[in-house]
Amino acid sequence: MRIVSVPCLSDNFAYLVTCPTTGATAVVDPGEPGPIEAALAAAGLTPTAIWATHHHPDHVGGVAGLAARFPGVAVIGHASDAARIAGLTRGVVAGDRVELGSLTATIIENPGHTSGAISYLIDADGEAAVFTGDTLFGAGCGRMFEGTPPQMHASLARLAALPPATRVYFGHEYTAANLRFAAAVEPGNPAIAARAAAIDAARPTTPSTIADERATNPFLRVAEPAVRAAAVAFDATVDPADGAAVFGAIRRWKDGFRG
Ligand code: ZN
Ligand code: FE
Repeated sequence: MRIVSVPCLSDNFAYLVTCPTTGATAVVDPGEPGPIEAALAAAGLTPTAIWATHHHPDHVGGVAGLAARFPGVAVIGHASDAARIAGLTRGVVAGDRVELGSLTATIIENPGHTSGAISYLIDADGEAAVFTGDTLFGAGCGRMFEGTPPQMHASLARLAALPPATRVYFGHEYTAANLRFAAAVEPGNPAIAARAAAIDAARPTTPSTIADERATNPFLRVAEPAVRAAAVAFDATVDPADGAAVFGAIRRWKDGFRG
């Protein structure tokens, strides 16, 4: 598969995903139409589908413009977001399969950032990619606007369980700031310092891998003794054996963190 990242708005990423045999192309999370249309034109591609990870305007703000420019384009999003994603042509739920030429994406539900947040997982001949929107970021995760800590913790655990080599295409360039927070949570984790040094020379930071995230992302590491201890140091009422409670404390700490 071919994947092109398209910076949108101030720090969003949209993506063009193309089937190498048919040329069928999906646009993931078009936050605005202009940069997408320019990237499509530069690559000589016509989109057949738009894949929305969730309903927030910085991820679907370009849907109407692209649908007008490319009549007949399919617009995919979670079934529960039919009233929140204008122009939705197909609502999907967990386990649904979305065809793109000879590629197939499988839908993973990950409620928490929003109730209808989903990821698109493509496994093409052992080369896997997952588009996670604002659920899983480089070294971080989205805020819980419409979910509880147990929900968001379970959603992230589902992504963390994907094969380590799976490439993670996330929705925002927040990795550097996220790594500053990760280092505050786990000052003794050398993988965090190594990743921070590596990204200084490499922007954009998308994609990462599930292996990178498992090694450095505090929100996937709530079972680690150092992360549990940091959560208890932040909030002494947290039971360190309760993964969702540890997750919730780390998320609240990050909400107020100015690194
Ligand atoms: Zn969002
Ligand atoms: Fe966003």
